Amino acid sequence: MYFGGIEAGGTKFAYGIADEKGNLLEKFTCPTITPEITFTEIINYFKEKNIKNLGIGSFGPVDLDPKSPTYGYITSTPKPHWGNTDFANYFQKELGVPVIFDTDVNVAALGEITWGAAKGLDSCLYLTIGTGIGGGAIVNNTIAHGFTHPEMGHIQVPQHPNDDYAGFCPYHKNCFEGLASGPALADRWQKKGHELPSDHQAWQIEAYYIAQALLNYIYILAPKKIILGGGVMKQTQLFPLIHTEVQRLANGYIKHPLLEDNIADYIVPPLLGDNAGIMGAIALAMKS
Ligand code: ADP
Ligand code: ZN
Repeated sequence: MYFGGIEAGGTKFAYGIADEKGNLLEKFTCPTITPEITFTEIINYFKEKNIKNLGIGSFGPVDLDPKSPTYGYITSTPKPHWGNTDFANYFQKELGVPVIFDTDVNVAALGEITWGAAKGLDSCLYLTIGTGIGGGAIVNNTIAHGFTHPEMGHIQVPQHPNDDYAGFCPYHKNCFEGLASGPALADRWQKKGHELPSDHQAWQIEAYYIAQALLNYIYILAPKKIILGGGVMKQTQLFPLIHTEVQRLANGYIKHPLLEDNIADYIVPPLLGDNAGIMGAIALAMKS
């Protein structure tokens, strides 16, 4: 018996199948072109595979309200061709199997708690810092949803004293995403992230914003593990900077070994690496 998974990203889709133990048997990727082209390729793949269920983790914003007429849609994305796109129902109709649908980051959090860095815990938070910033949380073994999915990238963070950059978010300018996403880094420093030397002051400022955001999430949700993924976090020198900044900014307020003794084991990269999304989508398929 096979389970299907799709990680739908703004740049590429990853899709594949796993057996009932969660062993990933096949994984392919294809570029995010238009729904017609990208969906057709993936549907043709799954039509040959006899899957029981399909899990999808998608870039957003998405509609997760089962009562809504646009449930399972990618909604107001500025990405050309992809706004107002039926995703979950379309795959369900084409493939004739149950489709379970959630955001890319919620699903990555599920992958990491099922098989990765947060295995065995009942809560975790997954944050991606890439083209955008988005976060998903699992609380008491349940993906946290409200009237819509969380938008953790758009919180406000105090501006760094040495940073007068106006911000890149089209809605809020200097929200967390507007100050710390990959495009914000490139715009502020006029160089892409991977071109900046690892000892550039950009990373200290970046770590400051990430630490501010993480502290907000910690104060609100107290997740038992924080997993940081996405292109910008390929700069692994950020991890120790973030650890130090979280401790400095928390200023001893939260007395817990996770923050005080083991912070390098608390704020970590994804153990599943680039497979967090697809494995989470498979976990979603297997749960239903
Ligand atoms: P997406 O968010 O589109 O799914 P990524 O998570 O790979 O994709 O994020 C892409 C962003 O991350 C781009 O803004 C890119 O400049 C930045 N990025 C990718 N690799 C690196 C790197 N090694 N160092 C710093 N920034 C990077
Ligand atoms: Zn914003």
